Amino acid sequence: MAAISLSKLNKHYGSLFHAVKDVDLEIADKEFVALVGPSGCGKSTTLRMIAGLEDITSGDIRIGGKVVNHLPPRDRDVAMVFQNYALYQHMSVYDNLAFGLRNKKTAEAEIKVAIERAAGMLGLHELLQRKPKQLSGGQQQRVALGRCIVRNPQVFLFDEPLSNLDAKLRAQMRIEIKRLHAEIPTTSVFVTHDQVEAMTLGDRVVIMRDGRVQQIGTPLQVYGKP
Ligand code: ADP
Ligand code: ADP
Repeated sequence: MAAISLSKLNKHYGSLFHAVKDVDLEIADKEFVALVGPSGCGKSTTLRMIAGLEDITSGDIRIGGKVVNHLPPRDRDVAMVFQNYALYQHMSVYDNLAFGLRNKKTAEAEIKVAIERAAGMLGLHELLQRKPKQLSGGQQQRVALGRCIVRNPQVFLFDEPLSNLDAKLRAQMRIEIKRLHAEIPTTSVFVTHDQVEAMTLGDRVVIMRDGRVQQIGTPLQVYGKP
């Protein structure tokens, strides 16, 4: 059974604009899929519909076999990393990491264990008492990743998470995300317009154009390079 299945998925904005057109896509359990294509081709809309942040117009979205078409984000067992990190500015890193679990009424002792583990994986121990504005962009994106990891979701969704970072940091974070996926294999959809990111991270690459899936394959099949 696919971890994520999209069938005949469509999104209209208003009555005229058709942003996502009949998208069919099956993503296997623990697979890392890179969703690429030019700006405006519908990548982000597709991802946001999987997350439940955007209503679908028609079609079906299944996560873990369950139809989630109109479920709110919190009922989908997905965690999303955004381009702008989306951290709570008034909270410490620790409280940012704890936020989702506290919402689920997880015991503080259990939260602490989950945060320790994520902090270890991401090198966040020294930063736990800081506020987001006392962190660099790369550090903030590590915290955003940590916030997903502590929730231990079925699916990670990434919306161009590296595009605000400089080239050097982007390369580092690419390696870090690759390592994390090897350490805790989790079904992942990674939206990017960067071919290098798609090639290095994706088990498979899905190329969208003008709202449709244009091509799907391994990086080798799609780009002719491993
Ligand atoms: P991508 O992520 O590939 O850059 P998007 O999914 O963000 O593309 O957008 C696809 C198309 O839908 C674009 O033409 C964009 O302008 C349009 N679009 C996105 N969000 C909205 C919205 N809230 N209202 C109207 N049009 C939108
Ligand atoms: P990204 O940086 O991921 O490409 P966008 O700038 O496309 O994000 O979109 C940012 C927000 O603006 C999203 O909520 C999106 O739905 C909305 N949006 C994008 N394009 C349009 C549009 N043409 N009209 C109205 N809202 C839009």
